[in-house]
Amino acid sequence: MKYDVVVVGAGPVGSTAARYAAMHGAEVLLLEEHASIGSPVGCTGLLSTRAVEECELKPSDEFVFNSVRGAFVHAPGGQCLPIDGKQTKAYVVSRKNFDRTLAVMAVEEGVDLSLKTRAAGFEKGNSETGSGKERSDKEKSSPVKLKILRSGKPETISASVVIGADGVKSQIANYAGIGKPARILPGIQIEAPYASEDSDFVELFPGSSAPGFFAWTVPLDEKVSRIGLALEPGIACKNGSGENSPLSYLEKFLHKNPHVKARCSGGMLDFVLGGIPIGPQEKTFSDGVLLAGDAAGQTKPTSGGGIYTGAFAAKIAGKVAAEAALEGDTSAQRLSEYDRLWRKGLAKELEIGMKIHDYIGKLEDNQLNELIGSLNTPSILNMITEYGDMDHPSVLMRKLMFSGNSFRLMKAFGTFLKTLF
Ligand SMILES: Cc1cc2nc3c(=O)[nH]c(=O)nc-3n(C[C@H](O)[C@H](O)[C@H](O)COP(=O)(O)OP(=O)(O)OC[C@H]3O[C@@H](n4cnc5c(N)ncnc54)[C@H](O)[C@@H]3O)c2cc1C
Repeated sequence: MKYDVVVVGAGPVGSTAARYAAMHGAEVLLLEEHASIGSPVGCTGLLSTRAVEECELKPSDEFVFNSVRGAFVHAPGGQCLPIDGKQTKAYVVSRKNFDRTLAVMAVEEGVDLSLKTRAAGFEKGNSETGSGKERSDKEKSSPVKLKILRSGKPETISASVVIGADGVKSQIANYAGIGKPARILPGIQIEAPYASEDSDFVELFPGSSAPGFFAWTVPLDEKVSRIGLALEPGIACKNGSGENSPLSYLEKFLHKNPHVKARCSGGMLDFVLGGIPIGPQEKTFSDGVLLAGDAAGQTKPTSGGGIYTGAFAAKIAGKVAAEAALEGDTSAQRLSEYDRLWRKGLAKELEIGMKIHDYIGKLEDNQLNELIGSLNTPSILNMITEYGDMDHPSVLMRKLMFSGNSFRLMKAFGTFLKTLF
């Protein structure tokens, strides 16, 4: 079997990349190892309005449970910073239905979709690593022989370009000799009965509830929320249980945080474990291969959200893969166009996000109390309302830096703000 482009992984990024490759004239196969699209899913499903737009979808009852317009940021000491965006800023979605909608759009564009089909390796000669000798230009553009298991049966598919959209544990990244994202935050989440203070707002809890990142509640409605947290990788122990496991942090958060404890009536409707890659891969291409989405580490370091950035990159990946395949030049050099273009759109924001992530993640509870306290003034809250942007936090940081509040903020943030730009 031979295709111009084979996309591995039918998550939001894979379906979007496949659709874009087909739109640009390629014969495309989209592989998904599971028997169902969008299941199992490791996600809170909080998508900015821009993320939904980037996926070229209109918000619809088919996948939207709730809309939110802001966040209550709870300092470890109990003080609450109310951030009101005044209009819908994000949707809380069913990822299963969202992913399916995107897969349907890909199929409608002519993509062949194969479920229960797992990419299981490249045949020798495709990896950059191995022989050590320089490969000829012809070899660099030779098709990738992708080994797959379709319903458990081995086959080999020939692909001019393989797009690895196979998530945070990407095997395609390994087969291509690039390796998986280096820094992965372990995340955990339940869906549970929770009496929301206001279901138009998410709640964020930075500090020792979730060292290195934050804990959250995201309302599906006024009675049920997704409650979870992610941790800096060095903190959580690897085996998933024990004192420093994500589970033990979540239990403490549910039973010891007075705000959460008072609203949680116990019980659980869903349970999710997953990794959030923080920091993009240094390289997202090799001969005949592109990486996109979590496989490329394209998530936002400030929020862990990966749909907006992943969809942005997926569209470029699909287009570049199709054009390169049809031109007959799928060498790493030709495919590097993708790396250049997605970084042009996202790299600066991801870099600033990484600095914010590292700075906030290292603050002690008392420092966070102080910082959140110093932001809790009407003029700063107005600026956050006006310029706060889930996908581009740098816009707000820049405005804050050069505002009339700059002296107060410089005091709160120390020299950190100066290192951002
Ligand atoms: C706890 C948690 C909460 C999150 N909350 C949010 C949020 O609120 N908003 C947000 O924007 N992001 C969130 N994220 C991040 C978001 O889930 C990811 O960024 C997003 O799913 C990435 O999409 P993707 O298509 O790259 O990968 P995935 O959605 O992981 O899809 C990869 C697909 O590839 C398939 N696959 C893997 N290996 C193979 C193989 N060898 N062969 C065939 N198929 C394969 C998988 O089955 C899967 O379907 C969260 C993540 C976690 C862990």
